Amino acid sequence: MSFSRGPKEPVPEVDTKVWSCTSDDCQGWMRESYSFEEEPKCPLCESSMIQEVRVLPELK
Ligand SMILES: [Zn+2]
Repeated sequence: MSFSRGPKEPVPEVDTKVWSCTSDDCQGWMRESYSFEEEPKCPLCESSMIQEVRVLPELK
């Protein structure tokens, strides 16, 4: 199956709530809508995470 046919629409970028790892050495983050915990731990290093807003391609 392929979704590559048809005109390509530019993906708009929107302010998105994310969880961001508090560790300086770690780039871990996840979209808030992908996390199931109220206060998730970083999937990479298990540090605590803080909420942040990033500009990311919109999810459909
Ligand atoms: Zn981390």
